[in-house]
Amino acid sequence: MTVFDAIVVGAGPAGSSAALTMAKAGLKVALLERGSFPGEKNMFGGVLHRLTALEDVLPNFWDIAPLERHIVKKTLTFMTEGSSFSVNFDNQAANQPPYNGYTIFRPTFDRWLADQAVQAGATLLSSSTVDEVLREGGRIVGVRLLRDNAELRAPIVIAADGVLSFVARKAGLRQGRFNPDHQGVCIKALIDMPKDVIDDRFGLTRREGASNEIVGNTGGVRGGTFLYTNYNSLSLGMVLELGSLMKTDWTPYHLLNNLMEQPQIAKLLRGGRLLEYSAHLVPKGGYQMQPELFSDGIMVTGDAAALCIVTGLNLEGINLAAQSGVIAGKTAIVAHQQRDFSKGCLSNYKKQLEDSFVLKDLKLYRRTPDMLHNDRIYQQYPELVCGMMDEIYRIDGRPKAKMSQMILRQVKEKIGLKNMLADVYGGWRSL
Ligand SMILES: Cc1cc2nc3c(=O)[nH]c(=O)nc-3n(C[C@H](O)[C@H](O)[C@H](O)COP(=O)(O)OP(=O)(O)OC[C@H]3O[C@@H](n4cnc5c(N)ncnc54)[C@H](O)[C@@H]3O)c2cc1C
Repeated sequence: MTVFDAIVVGAGPAGSSAALTMAKAGLKVALLERGSFPGEKNMFGGVLHRLTALEDVLPNFWDIAPLERHIVKKTLTFMTEGSSFSVNFDNQAANQPPYNGYTIFRPTFDRWLADQAVQAGATLLSSSTVDEVLREGGRIVGVRLLRDNAELRAPIVIAADGVLSFVARKAGLRQGRFNPDHQGVCIKALIDMPKDVIDDRFGLTRREGASNEIVGNTGGVRGGTFLYTNYNSLSLGMVLELGSLMKTDWTPYHLLNNLMEQPQIAKLLRGGRLLEYSAHLVPKGGYQMQPELFSDGIMVTGDAAALCIVTGLNLEGINLAAQSGVIAGKTAIVAHQQRDFSKGCLSNYKKQLEDSFVLKDLKLYRRTPDMLHNDRIYQQYPELVCGMMDEIYRIDGRPKAKMSQMILRQVKEKIGLKNMLADVYGGWRSL
C-alpha cells in the first residue's frame, strides 16, 4: 500500500491547483485522474477568467499558459426565430494585460496545469478512477482505485472530481437526491475556421477575441447559448437546465442543430467545418446545492463543491475551482505542520473560502438560480425585445404609434404588466 501526504482526486483546475500548491511546499502528493491524460474527459465553453490565487503560486502564469484569444468584445443577444437584437461592449480601454478573460481548450489547458504540479513534485496517476474512500475510526484515510482494487493512503484527501463528485458522496458530505433543476446540461460544437476569417467576421485583430451570450431560441427550454472565438475555431454551445429539458421531447443535439440553421447564426458559421461535439454537466444551483465542504481528513473543491456561478451573463467555474484548490492545498500544508487532520483544523478551508470572493460571490448570487427558473426569460422577453425593435425601425407609409404607447402595448401583450413588475423586482433582488 502506498502512503502519501495528500491524495487529490481529479486533475481538473481544482485538483491540479491543489496538487501544485502542496507539491511546491514539499508535500508528497498523489494526483489521480480517471482520463488517460488530464483534460481528456473535460470540456467547457469557455472563457478562463483571472485566477488570482493561482497567479501567486505560478507568478508567470499568463505568460506560459496555453491560451487561445483574450476577450475584448462582449455581446448580449436576444434572439427569436428570424430576428435578433444585440448589445455590444467593445472594451478597448481594457485591451491590455492583465486581460479579463481568455478562451482556452480544456484538454490542452488541463494537461498543462497538471504538468505544472508534476514538475513541482506531484505524482500523477492517469487512468486511475477512484471508486471508494477508505475510513478509519470515522475519518477518511485514503481511496481505493477501480483498477486492481489498489489502495492509496494519506491523512488528507481532496475531492476535486467534478460536478457529480462520487468522492464527496461516498464520504457522506453530499446527501439528498440528484436535483435536475440544479444541473445544466451543456452541449458544444467546435467549428474549424481560418484565423483571418474569424478576425474579419467578428472585427478582431491579433489575439483579440469575442464572446456572445444569446437568450432565446432554445425551444422554450430554460437555458442560453454561447458563441466564443478561439484562435482558429469557434465554440458554439448551449447550457440547458436539465429539469426543464426533461419536460420536453427535445434533445440538446436537436436544439443546437436548429440554432445552427438560424440565418443569424448560420452566416457566422459559414465556411466553417464541424470538428466535434462534446457535452458535460454544470452545477447551476450555486449556494443552494452546496454540500458539506470538509470533514475529518477530507476537503471538497471546485464543481464537486458546486462552486460555480451561472447568471445568464457570465458562467464562472474555473476561477472558483482554482481558488478553492489553492486554499485547500494551503489548508493541507498547515494541517501537516500542526499534525492535525481533524475537522477542526480543516474548518480553516471553509473560513478562507468565506473570506475570499468564492463564497462571497456565491452568497451574493444565491437567488439567481430561482430567478433563472422564470420561463418568460427564454421566450417572451426575446419576443418582446425583437418585436419592439421591429416596430421602432419599421417605416411603411402608415402613421406611427407614440413609442411609449407602443412599448406599453407590447409589454401588455407579450408579458403582462404585473408579470413585468414581478420580474424586474426578482431580477433586482437576484443580480
Ligand atoms: C459547457 C460548459 C461551459 C462552461 N463555461 C465556463 C466558462 O466559460 N468559464 C468558466 O470559468 N467556467 C465554465 N464552466 C464551468 C467549468 O468548466 C467548471 O466549473 C470547472 O471545470 C470545474 O473544475 P473542477 O476541477 O472542479 O472540475 P472538472 O473540471 O470537472 O474536473 C474534474 C476532474 O476529475 C476527474 N474525475 C472525475 N471523477 C473521478 C474519479 N472517480 N476518479 C478520478 N478522477 C475523476 C475528471 O475526469 C476531471 O478531470 C463551463 C462548464 C460547462 C460544462
